[in-house]
Amino acid sequence: MLGMVTMNLYLETYGCQMNVSDSQKIETLFGEEGYQLVSDFHQADLIIINTCSVREKPEQKVFSALGRYLPLKRQNSRLVVAVGGCVAQQWGARLQQKCSGLDIVFGTHAIDVLPAMVREVRNTCLPQLDTAFRSAIPSLDIIPRYAAGTLTAFVTIMQGCNNYCSYCIVPYVRGREYSRPSDSIIAEIRQLAKNGIREVILLGQNVNSYGLQTAGELNFPQLLARVNEIHGIERIRFTTSHPKDLSDELIAAFVELDHLCPQFHLPLQSGSDRILERMGRGYSTAEYFDKVERLRQVCPEIAFSSDMIIGFPGESAEDFQKTVDMIRRVRYDTVYSFKYSPRPGTRAVSFPDQVEEAVKKERLRIFQTLQDEITSKNLRKLEGTTQEILVNGPAKRGGDQWVGRTPTNQIVNFSSDENFTGQTMTVRITRALRHSLKGDIVQHG
Ligand code: SF4
Repeated sequence: MLGMVTMNLYLETYGCQMNVSDSQKIETLFGEEGYQLVSDFHQADLIIINTCSVREKPEQKVFSALGRYLPLKRQNSRLVVAVGGCVAQQWGARLQQKCSGLDIVFGTHAIDVLPAMVREVRNTCLPQLDTAFRSAIPSLDIIPRYAAGTLTAFVTIMQGCNNYCSYCIVPYVRGREYSRPSDSIIAEIRQLAKNGIREVILLGQNVNSYGLQTAGELNFPQLLARVNEIHGIERIRFTTSHPKDLSDELIAAFVELDHLCPQFHLPLQSGSDRILERMGRGYSTAEYFDKVERLRQVCPEIAFSSDMIIGFPGESAEDFQKTVDMIRRVRYDTVYSFKYSPRPGTRAVSFPDQVEEAVKKERLRIFQTLQDEITSKNLRKLEGTTQEILVNGPAKRGGDQWVGRTPTNQIVNFSSDENFTGQTMTVRITRALRHSLKGDIVQHG
């Protein structure tokens, strides 16, 4: 860094936690190159947009961002503009053809070479493109730098997917499933623990199938067992899982591993077997519910969350009712529910029986109203109980209010004149609010 000129990086991130984690790596890489992060794009020497194509109209979001940033190059000849992530992967060279002045398009496997691409643009003024899929993904081994005092870290353990659900763009933009070597994961988490991280969230498109494609590699429950042994890591969570790959061994891990949090994000997507079949999900609602029940048998306090697609092509009123029945049976704590939106390049786009927009909208309203009631009911059941929380820091509203999370990932606000950030403490839940809890300190330290 000695003698390096500091330059400014403006980094814009869309979409999922995986993208947020990729952006942390990008920030770390450019920190090593002498860049500092700025929040005002007018000050930037380098603008990077890390895109997501899972939700509706992602390209429009990117084009409108580029409409803001590319004209700045007329006033600032040093400015380099790059687009990465899923939209970049899907559009490739077409993005540079459409958006004149766009310097760099980098795909989901090219994060580690991004600094070299930026240097190349600065040296040659030529646009750069890299959307190749690699058989191993070196960027997964980049360890992001966390600010002092950070308690929770996201650790990517695998990327890509081999499932090709009929609505999903992920296998086309993130590539085939790749599991990062377990030794590299363990080394990263050990380092994080030394730096004061207390909670890790293991990330991947389908963590349940971690290691299965690599001869001699640990499987997911075995990897969890290794993480569980790391001194200093008190809480382990993971996301996201595919119900068909949820093994008996993983269910047993909830009994055997003392740091594994009783929380499971298990996307159901639809409560109708007919629709699950059309989605290509590879499980029935009976199989799904059986796994939920077995997890509850071994770990009664476990909290479930899910993703749900409302109005998938061909979804009848009866299919929708089955989805409603299913959330009543499972009693999820949280459901991330969305209207089906066709993603170009996926099979479901060409399904003939698309559901009308107004019908999707009304079903989503009914669904979310019911799920809100279930969420509130689950939270109210916790009133009067004592919970162990890890204190994350001051609450947003400030004053003497602090916030922590239970092992099941519920947010608890409490008041205190002392700062207990980073400590585990016992609170009695006094009140359930809409999406969080209020508590009083019982014991700390
Ligand atoms: S398993 Fe998940 S990531 Fe893979 S194709 Fe299906 S929805 Fe997409």
